[in-house]
Amino acid sequence: MRAHPAGPLHGGMTPPPSVGLPPADLGVLDPQVWPRSARRVDGELHLGGRPVTELARAHGTPLFVLDEADFRGRAADFAAAFADADVHYASKAFLCGQVARWIADDGLHLDACSGNELALALAAGFPADRIALHGNNKSLVELQLAVDSGIGHVVLDSFDEIDRLVPMAAARVAAGGAPVPVLVRTTVGIEAHTHEFIATAHEDQKFGFSLATGDALTAAVRVIREPALRLTGLHSHIGSQIFDTAGFEAAAHRVVGLLGQVRQATGEVLGELNLGGGFGIAYLPDDDPVGPDDVARRLGAVVAAECAALDLPVPRLAVEPGRAIAGPGTVTLYEIGTIKPVRLGSGGHGAPQVRNYVSVDGGMSDNIRTALYDASYTCVLANRTSDAPPALCRVVGKHCESGDVLVRDLWLPADVQPGDLLAVAATGAYCWSMASNYNYLLKPPVVAVRDGVATEVVRRQTLSDVFALDAVLADVPPPATAPSQPAPEHPAGVRSTSSRVGAEAQS
Ligand SMILES: *Cc1c(COP(=O)(O)O)cnc(C)c1O
Repeated sequence: MRAHPAGPLHGGMTPPPSVGLPPADLGVLDPQVWPRSARRVDGELHLGGRPVTELARAHGTPLFVLDEADFRGRAADFAAAFADADVHYASKAFLCGQVARWIADDGLHLDACSGNELALALAAGFPADRIALHGNNKSLVELQLAVDSGIGHVVLDSFDEIDRLVPMAAARVAAGGAPVPVLVRTTVGIEAHTHEFIATAHEDQKFGFSLATGDALTAAVRVIREPALRLTGLHSHIGSQIFDTAGFEAAAHRVVGLLGQVRQATGEVLGELNLGGGFGIAYLPDDDPVGPDDVARRLGAVVAAECAALDLPVPRLAVEPGRAIAGPGTVTLYEIGTIKPVRLGSGGHGAPQVRNYVSVDGGMSDNIRTALYDASYTCVLANRTSDAPPALCRVVGKHCESGDVLVRDLWLPADVQPGDLLAVAATGAYCWSMASNYNYLLKPPVVAVRDGVATEVVRRQTLSDVFALDAVLADVPPPATAPSQPAPEHPAGVRSTSSRVGAEAQS
């Protein structure tokens, strides 16, 4: 196992990790990292039964390719592992109408973190009673949408929010409606990232009601006494990209303790316990996350033991995986534009002396995670394999930022060249959903692939879409040849692969 930093608390850049020795086979697709349908066929990467050169030709690059069977398979794995619990897909990882329908059809719940995520899910026909609304600063309009649409839970995050919600809920009750079901989000003083967790008495962050100060108990008591609200349980979320269950177990200990305090203060036995999301995924072949079965077994055991100790009935559990469902099944395809060898000084100890800056046609506008969190990714030459010797490379975007890095250090075959396609693995979570228009680059499309069929589930943003927001340019047509206007034929991947080396099948 190797740790890599993740999450906003590791936002400062750390020194580049040692890239290690080149693997024996640079084209190999590690099943920990690549989508379940990823194969090499005659050297070329296929996803969902589609060759990447055809996907790039039909849809352009950069392109998010989403393996539907992988995404839905991981959702189903969580649902099966947590058969006696509720699995909420944390939609901020990646949400579009098609994904909302898959999650609805597959019987999971959905978390929204804003009124617009909620509006999107409702517009896609997602059943309101299976939606929970999160957020530390929900507006009146967002809360009203939640109340009017009859969502399953509003996850309360502050006393101000309770003040805002109560009159709306009271109006609904006065009109003959049901009280609004809510959870109280508690901040339990456990902060977890990857391999470590920190347990503190206080937690210095913006979410939730502090357990240590007594605010969480105060909030729970206040909500229980409010007839227009129905407190169904407690919520805790401790971090993201977590690789073991110790942090969840520590959080469960504290939040079950709060269930006991609530019973003592009010006589009320709350029936639901939502332990949040944050289950890690493999971005690199050495990453070793826990699977849903292990998570379910350990969480179930610790909650049962804590409840037994306090003589409380075991509440219904809920979990909220986002990254663990959406992350691994999506790959970003880019076309290489330039390659620039940069001398790194004298080296020594056999260290490589040249780093090749491999520039692709996207970057921090479609994947901000490397720049923001110093996240680690891996990628492969996708349109062909090569038996050229390994070369130390850094894959960078085309933005005007030297921090515009996609893959900090990796080995690629020394004969990579402009026009080749690169595929970056595990970009399904927090990439498209965090995309920006920096440098007026346009948001890439998302294409779902399954059993040889490719379906564009989100089209590419066009320059006309962006001009439409501009007071001066709204009615001005972009130049007909502007990049990323819908193009009949995209040049990506059209170079012949047949004359190249190493056309061998792998998986
Ligand atoms: C972001 C978030 C999640 C999902 O986190 P992942 O790391 O994607 O699993 C779950 N619950 C809450 C409250 C969140 O804010």
